[in-house]
Amino acid sequence: MGTPLEPREAQVEEVTDRLRETYPDSTISLRYSNRLELLIAVVLSAQCTDERVNEVTEELFETYSTPAEYANATEEELADAIYGITFHNNKGGYLQGIGERLVADHDGEVPDTMAELTDLPGVGRKTANVVLQHGHDIVEGIVVDTHVQRLSRRLGLTEEPTPERIEEDLVGIVPREDWQEFTHLCIDHGRATCTARNPDCGDCVLAAICPSQKGDSPVDLASGEPW
Ligand code: SF4
Repeated sequence: MGTPLEPREAQVEEVTDRLRETYPDSTISLRYSNRLELLIAVVLSAQCTDERVNEVTEELFETYSTPAEYANATEEELADAIYGITFHNNKGGYLQGIGERLVADHDGEVPDTMAELTDLPGVGRKTANVVLQHGHDIVEGIVVDTHVQRLSRRLGLTEEPTPERIEEDLVGIVPREDWQEFTHLCIDHGRATCTARNPDCGDCVLAAICPSQKGDSPVDLASGEPW
């Protein structure tokens, strides 16, 4: 079993250093060219892969390029345009609602506060954090997606069970200037090595400091269950 550094701030620093060396170009993998496209892509990416979202948005963004165009489309038209995306029917409704709200309440612009963003249909704190960070250069928190949740628990950075509480825990130990990068490093490592079902602990740059290391540790700290 790997030995995590104490205190947790030291563990965070070592994890970040090692992952930064492994993934020097770590950043968002959704494709977009303006704030509206970013917002739409992030909403579509909930419980869907970025790869699939990028495939679908290539054509979507050619057809719909303004909030008014989303507002004036029907939910069914939008659901058809994003067919192949998880929960495309619900998300078609979100896109139409977002278009309406941007036109009615925000002069057709994507707002730049957490409160205004989370007021939009289909936009939770995670989505809003991504839009603030990559659309407005405002880093208000740490985006905790499924990879960040799994890795931060496996690595002994938190024992909290929900994304909201994990974020509260992480903002206290990850240096503010690393908040954005920390998410992307966890996502890259979660995809490449520390996968949900079958992490490749034998070929992991974090194994020596990971208390969940498979084979040595009997327990996956992400779930608290035996491997
Ligand atoms: S792959 Fe294994 S050793 Fe590496 S971080 Fe994940 S659980 Fe720990």
